[in-house]
Amino acid sequence: MSTPHAVPGSWIDGAAVDGTGPAHTVIDPATDKAVTTVSLAMSADVDSAIESARAAQGGWGAATPAERSEVLRRLADVMRAEAGALAAQEVAQTGRTVRLATEFDVPGSIDNVDFFAGLARNFDGKASAEYSGDHTSSIRREPVGVVGSISPWNYPLQMAVWKVIPALAAGCAVVLKPAELTPLTTLTLARLATEAGLPDGVFNVVVGTGAEVGSALSGHAGLDMVTFTGSTGVGRQVMAQAARNGTRVQLELGGKAPFVVFDDADLTAAVHGAVAGSLINAGQDCTAATRAIVAPALYDDFVDGVAELMASMTVGDPTDPDTDMGSLSSRAHRDKVAGMVDRAVADGARLVTGGTVVDGPGAFYRPTLLADVTEEAEVYRDEVFGPVLTVSTFTDDDDAIRRANDTVYGLAASAWTRDVFRAQRAGREIHAGCVWINDHIPIISEMPHGGFGASGFGKDMSAYSLDEYLAVKHVMSDITALAEKPWHRTVFAGGR
Ligand code: NAD
Repeated sequence: MSTPHAVPGSWIDGAAVDGTGPAHTVIDPATDKAVTTVSLAMSADVDSAIESARAAQGGWGAATPAERSEVLRRLADVMRAEAGALAAQEVAQTGRTVRLATEFDVPGSIDNVDFFAGLARNFDGKASAEYSGDHTSSIRREPVGVVGSISPWNYPLQMAVWKVIPALAAGCAVVLKPAELTPLTTLTLARLATEAGLPDGVFNVVVGTGAEVGSALSGHAGLDMVTFTGSTGVGRQVMAQAARNGTRVQLELGGKAPFVVFDDADLTAAVHGAVAGSLINAGQDCTAATRAIVAPALYDDFVDGVAELMASMTVGDPTDPDTDMGSLSSRAHRDKVAGMVDRAVADGARLVTGGTVVDGPGAFYRPTLLADVTEEAEVYRDEVFGPVLTVSTFTDDDDAIRRANDTVYGLAASAWTRDVFRAQRAGREIHAGCVWINDHIPIISEMPHGGFGASGFGKDMSAYSLDEYLAVKHVMSDITALAEKPWHRTVFAGGR
């Protein structure tokens, strides 16, 4: 089932391998045209990938931190050399703007690799000491083992990097399943890692469907850990599949970030922040601003300002550097977003701008602002994952915080105020893995990303992420050399 443009859909044991499944066409969602065809993996390919990872695990885990660091440093260098190609591939398979790919996805991914190249040489732990008086206790940080990773389609390269690089820094071997909609930069990353000197088998990729390859991977007895980024519903299935083997799990799931604007906020900054924070990557961002909760005194001006700025956005050809917003990731997803907006309007939300599909080829949707949205509305409670912002209001600061927290999710949030005590309160009381003050979206390799509640648990990025892939071992060595240890009196009545 191969075509002249087909690429092998797996990278196993340091080489491109055709999957044993059917051919899958990767579509450019901005043009509806085929980018390439990939031979999908099946569960038998997952078995081979895990076998290859298991064989490579011991050697990679035994490499010195400096050796692992050096491979990652070289990977960052080859990614820098291939930055243009990586960005072009990311644009073609996702419909995101070339500006987002070249100024965020690719440099952000390279910075992450650089960061973990450094961190690979810096394992933390408690000091060795004679805590019991009779033993020397020391802590070892050992690689968890073979990790199965599953990533989503919204930031294909960055999500692959976030999942794989800290695991490699920790000395783990990885089998990664990207979303089949967007597998290309992940396959390139695996090839570049091999070119950078990563030993064969340490990083394997299997491109396949969630139902076939995702479930085969997450339920595989040959894994020591499963890490997943994607929707909350699928994350829970992954957890259940991993539970069959009692496999360690980390989950980065959906979000529904509140964007709280207090009455002393800088209105212009809040308006710009809301539009940038809700429309980045066409809103297909788990931390995107989705629920603006705005003080009554600023409400009308905020709605007018956001609507005007949204209406000025250029939506179209993602390869044009002057385009503000590209297409959504697929027509099916665009239709899901449109359906949620249509139902919101039918339920009484006020459509201030947008709410329309852009005619012609491609999965384009206009930036959309829905005002006067109630707390019960589907569009207020469920993840839309598109260029859609809702606006509602609050009565006082207690009510603002209550509304911000009135969600099952807890990934990200922002508060806009010039009052230091309000800012501190928002940072303290909003239940989310990240709370921005007077900004929304920025991330940085040194700081953790991860959610609470239905947004999952565990961290990507930062030293906290390295910890996910390191098992903590206590080695306790007797220093008394006594045959009869003092603690034996708890067992032997009267001594022996
Ligand atoms: P998704 O849950 O549909 O798919 C994610 C991955 O899981 C894909 O690779 C998919 O093929 C795979 N999958 C599907 N069914 C599976 C199964 N039964 N077993 C194992 N794997 C399976 O998510 P998506 O639509 O690709 O991505 C969007 C979602 O990802 C949004 O909910 C978004 O909030 C979330 N997300 C979260 C973060 C975070 O860090 N918390 C980051 C990015 C995206």
